[in-house]
Amino acid sequence: MIVPFNDISRENANIKNEIIEALECIIDSGTFILGDRADQFENEFAKFCGSRFCVGVGNGYDALSVILMSYKRLGLLKEGDEIIVPSNTFIATALAVTNLNLNLKLVNPCPLTYCLTSKILEDQITPKTKAVILVHLYGYPAISEKLLKVCKDNGVLLIEDAAQAHGAERLGTKVGSYGDAAAFSFYPGKNLGALGDAGAITSHDERLIDCCRKIRNYGSSQKYHHTEIGINSRLDEFQAVILSIKLKSYQQNLMLRSAVAERYFNEINGPDIILPYSNDLKKTGRTHAFHLFVLRVEARDRFCAFLKSNGIETGIHYPRLIHQHPCYHDVEFCDSEGFSDVNQKVVSIPIYPTIRREEVDHVIKVINEFV
Ligand SMILES: *Cc1c(COP(=O)(O)O)cnc(C)c1O
Repeated sequence: MIVPFNDISRENANIKNEIIEALECIIDSGTFILGDRADQFENEFAKFCGSRFCVGVGNGYDALSVILMSYKRLGLLKEGDEIIVPSNTFIATALAVTNLNLNLKLVNPCPLTYCLTSKILEDQITPKTKAVILVHLYGYPAISEKLLKVCKDNGVLLIEDAAQAHGAERLGTKVGSYGDAAAFSFYPGKNLGALGDAGAITSHDERLIDCCRKIRNYGSSQKYHHTEIGINSRLDEFQAVILSIKLKSYQQNLMLRSAVAERYFNEINGPDIILPYSNDLKKTGRTHAFHLFVLRVEARDRFCAFLKSNGIETGIHYPRLIHQHPCYHDVEFCDSEGFSDVNQKVVSIPIYPTIRREEVDHVIKVINEFV
């Protein structure tokens, strides 16, 4: 049996006809970028997140960039300001910061949740810190009242990187409606994935959203009248309609992911395997989006090879911390060793809505045979 790490084509097969029909309508309509479908998806996604506004953009990286650009235009951030980013995130989070000439401050996450916490931020925020990018990594909603308060008390903007956590929530608050602004990615492999690149920004802040709306479209809200130095990062009608179709079954897909996670929690029992931190989920009223199910194994290479020889694909998220990439060799990071050990043990096993029962059986059986 081969268990692929992810299988997007299975999910798409179920809705292929609906998608083709919708795309035909768009072809006939003659509007391909920022039309009614984009408007509609923006409204639906804002509602889904419990946020007042949503702006569709070209991808998740642009969502982060356009938020940061807008804060600069609004005078809330300026060149050289310090932005806190967790050291274990995907490279896009860091690139958005440094490409805008903001100062990247890497901070190690909590080794239990793999995310930043209020305690960590209390220790790390200095008078130079102007924003925190809270990454809901792997789908864990890193939301807490305390964290919000730490940012507020210190006058620090809280920007969520929710690229891996669509629909994750804590006590009824969904990611994307929690901080000052949030960035989402709809890269095909994400929980809510387009059939190409797409992304979105959510926020309750009308002034910020107005600015983002202009910046993504050459700095204009009126044709050939440019009030901001903008870029081109727009949501196209094909991706928007595909996302609207997928959003309809998204809550169901989250439940399917959750059910797989529940089985892994209950049935994986190898002594050398550290499961994700599940205790905290129910106790703190968190709903994890389970974009990834990340184990920790001391003998990671041997573990991956063993699973592979049994037909099971694994992934590593991520092989390097941000400062360990050659492109960031010059980033100062005073606690550069602090999380490295943990990170060398992380390994992701298959989890997706269309994974079959017998595939999950196989994954559990093989993992429990590993010595
Ligand atoms: C995928 C991802 C991004 C970037 O999204 P793209 O759509 O690929 O640009 C940013 N942050 C995190 C945490 C991601 O996983």
